[in-house]
Amino acid sequence: MIAVAKPQIGPEEEAAVLAVLRSGMIAQGPQTERFEHAFAELCDVQHAVAVSNGTVALHLALLAHDIGPGDEVITSPFSFIATANSILMTGARPVFVDIDADDFNLDPTLVEAAITPRTRAIMPVHLYGQPAQMDALLALAQRYNLQIIEDAAQAVGACYRGRPAGSFGTACFSLYATKNITTGEGGMITTNDAAIAERLRLLRAHGMRVRYYHEHFGYNFRITDLQSALGLAQLGKLATFNQRRIANAAYLDAHISHPAISTPRVRPEVRHVYHQYTVRVQGGREAAIKQLAAAGVGAAIFYPLTIPQQPFYRAQGYEVPMPVAEQAARDVLALPVHPGLSAEELAQVADAVNALELVAELVV
Ligand SMILES: *Cc1c(COP(=O)(O)O)cnc(C)c1O
Repeated sequence: MIAVAKPQIGPEEEAAVLAVLRSGMIAQGPQTERFEHAFAELCDVQHAVAVSNGTVALHLALLAHDIGPGDEVITSPFSFIATANSILMTGARPVFVDIDADDFNLDPTLVEAAITPRTRAIMPVHLYGQPAQMDALLALAQRYNLQIIEDAAQAVGACYRGRPAGSFGTACFSLYATKNITTGEGGMITTNDAAIAERLRLLRAHGMRVRYYHEHFGYNFRITDLQSALGLAQLGKLATFNQRRIANAAYLDAHISHPAISTPRVRPEVRHVYHQYTVRVQGGREAAIKQLAAAGVGAAIFYPLTIPQQPFYRAQGYEVPMPVAEQAARDVLALPVHPGLSAEELAQVADAVNALELVAELVV
């Protein structure tokens, strides 16, 4: 079966992790500092702070901006649950605004109506690796004095008008095993604000600048040097990985020609890094998954429900109509696009999609 996601780990990663293991310094240390510098450079920002995972990155970014009880954060209903959960973790309230049908990201034309005196931040998600419409969101943030906190978990290496994802405010990345680069579990926060970076470092490690003197409340959300060494090796390959994803997506765009399948729409001003290659299936998505599996092609749904439709959020009264996001949740299907695919596998994916028999269900 051709997997939808597959970590690309080679001898460079093995050597880097082994060297840290043998050094005897395996917790957070010099490798993490190097990793942070390299990541900041990639995103063209002053500061990067590595943490245990992407969820923690979002949580700490909100805390560093003093967002908490009584505050509202505008975000996308069509994302991984951690986006909204990170807002709840602080005691603030997520306010969901529907998405744009073309790019699956926050629809900026609907954001303004959701701004209230309690709104503190906008948290756009660069879903599937395609940056949100940042010009319009930045203009709103400026007009209403709101913080931008990017959920760039899926968008390492992506760009909007030539500017890297992660450089538009305070931004959060995930380094989970399926993401474009990985440390197994891991996260990174990027910012140009030195005071925010300092607060993030304090929150990450028990509010402690000098050992055992705790000026602030804090957590243990550190990463380890084992992971950072892995991350540095992965970072060195990111450009190649993303180029392959983009080339694989171009192949699928050119070769998928099924009448019930629409290939992704990409805005001309962005560099989409295809964390996922997501098509829409007009009817018969479950049948499509079964038929693809029978043809040896893995496929997955990101995500089958919007966040407000999730039982926990429904129970809290968050469910309001989000027609575009709900339609996306019914339609989307991610196909393999990862950098480890061979030319034969890529052809197999396109052929299997073109051979789908969905006609009967289309009529229904
Ligand atoms: C992966 C992901 C996260 C959470 O990252 P973890 O490292 O798994 O905690 C948050 N938001 C989005 C959009 C993600 O894809």
